[in-house]
Amino acid sequence: LSPVPSDIEISRAQTPKAVEILAKEIGLFADEIEIYGKSKAKVRLSLLERLKDQADGKYVLVAGITPTPLGEGKSTVTIGLVQALTAHLNVNSFACLRQPSQGPTFGVKGGAAGGGYAQVIPMEEFNLHLTGDIHAITAANNLLAAAIDARILHENTQTDKALYNRLVPSVNGVREFSKIQLARLKRLGINKTDPSALTEEEMRKFARLDIDPSTITWQRVVDTNDRFLRKITVGQASTEKGCSRQAQFDIAVASEIMAVLALTDSLADMKERLGRMVVASDKNGQPVTADDLGVTGALTVLMKDAIKPNLMQTLEGTPVFVHAGPFANIAHGNSSVLADKIALKLVGEGGFVVTEAGFGADIGMEKFFNIKCRASGLVPNVVVLVATVRALKMHGGGPSVTAGVPLKKEYTEENLQLVADGCCNLEKQIQIAQLFGVPVVVALNVFKTDTRAEIDLVCELAKRAGAFNAVPCYHWSIGGKGSVDLAWAVREAASKESRFQFLYDVQLPIVEKIRTIAQSVYGAKDIELSPEAQSKIDRYTEQGFGNLPICMAKTHLSLSHQPDKKGVPKGFILPISDVRASIGAGFIYPLVGTMSTMPGLPTRPCFYDIDLDTETEQVKGLF
Ligand code: ADP
Repeated sequence: LSPVPSDIEISRAQTPKAVEILAKEIGLFADEIEIYGKSKAKVRLSLLERLKDQADGKYVLVAGITPTPLGEGKSTVTIGLVQALTAHLNVNSFACLRQPSQGPTFGVKGGAAGGGYAQVIPMEEFNLHLTGDIHAITAANNLLAAAIDARILHENTQTDKALYNRLVPSVNGVREFSKIQLARLKRLGINKTDPSALTEEEMRKFARLDIDPSTITWQRVVDTNDRFLRKITVGQASTEKGCSRQAQFDIAVASEIMAVLALTDSLADMKERLGRMVVASDKNGQPVTADDLGVTGALTVLMKDAIKPNLMQTLEGTPVFVHAGPFANIAHGNSSVLADKIALKLVGEGGFVVTEAGFGADIGMEKFFNIKCRASGLVPNVVVLVATVRALKMHGGGPSVTAGVPLKKEYTEENLQLVADGCCNLEKQIQIAQLFGVPVVVALNVFKTDTRAEIDLVCELAKRAGAFNAVPCYHWSIGGKGSVDLAWAVREAASKESRFQFLYDVQLPIVEKIRTIAQSVYGAKDIELSPEAQSKIDRYTEQGFGNLPICMAKTHLSLSHQPDKKGVPKGFILPISDVRASIGAGFIYPLVGTMSTMPGLPTRPCFYDIDLDTETEQVKGLF
């Protein structure tokens, strides 16, 4: 249709097939799915065992140039590509996407189900509660947060003996350690299993976590852009007996539990990762974990359904997994390992799994390779790098844009010079993908104002920069058939042998790993560590966490640390202000400048346009 209707209008105009039918089409048995409503189902992990001898399909990552406010359309390209592969090339394919946070859906960005004629449907279910995974994460995260403060209070107000007796209660005159307590004793080097055999000193050591409140890194979370929770004081009631402290709320998807969900590959592994999560240090500088707080089993219970990937469909009825959506800056911004693993088995040899990395390739793709592929052991075959003419023009020096104000003529009329100048960012992102030995196909997501000459110029420059191929895509306006050329190009690139390699050896010192990313990926001259960052690096190294991969927390709006520096900034020194760790997820994250983990709402948030037609129960205004 012309003009193309709104995303929600298109989504609503298509009735999704019943999820049972979709599941059957892709080879799932009835007892391998758990149905939520009519068009969503969770998929059981037992599938992995049933399909373990099946060959994997090809693994394709969709990444983008450095994002601009003009948008690139990575999700639409991902959906358009699988629609083209399945419905037009007749090849099995699966899209694996992140679940969006409700914060941005009601805040600035809107939905994330793709758009135009390349979407996941029903888009309102995709964008809102889905099957409750983010709610489960919120519940688990906040249980752990509550456990930390309650434990400090109890340790502050009880003698060693009283504390010990409450932690190891006498039931009918018998005291017994629980399994998790036995594990803690072992970690403390106390090789005793009889609670009455501990010396007073051992009882004290066992019962007191001695958390240093100033080192608590575990925050409460909520899935709302609520800036007033960025700094709060907890424990102000008299019942908390002076244990008040400054704390903060983060957006739910920034919880380490979300990153754990995205990186785990089984229930047993998730439980271990949840138990390893470090929430603070004790007064001797030793890490305090969820296991120490005795909460791991309960966290696993809360997460037992969230671990199962969610099956949905595209507008053209092809399968999609929507699973996990870790914050793309302080975490790695990629959907789950489990969804990818299951999808690779389901499509089988000759099939394709297409997944998307958040932000630009310098961030999302780098973390996909160095963190996600390292955790999963999966080998990527092709990178699809998404660009738009308008975003490239901004990298070439085009004027800034303001929401709600019509675009300036630089973006709506032909301007080959701006396009040519902006292609430096595309070239740099192609080179970054090549560092990992993976072939790149550039997908130029065409907007209706792009001219033939502009489209040809981008494709020509991309190929000159080393892309395996570069093709324009029209999925947004006409669906899968608009991405058939992209599908052929990806298929051809995937037939080459993958020469995939990691960028760094995890055994290198933390500083060396940070420097390698800064110089080879971002193009920095060097890095500069604050004293705080250096002391954290020393502490993590001493605590035995020095051999984890690195998850840089840097602005996505520039290859450098300065969001206004478009194109390819050169000669800059990357400042590392602090370094933090997500031990359960399994990475160290250096902060480049300050990173907000709780977005705010603008003056006119998206929620102004969101409404429910109470007669038809239809959701309006999501885009
Ligand atoms: P990203 O994944 O890069 O954030 P999306 O794929 O979610 O981007 O697209 C963001 C928005 O831009 C969506 O509302 C989508 O409908 C719109 N969009 C994407 N591609 C096009 C296009 N070619 N023409 C017009 N609008 C588009």
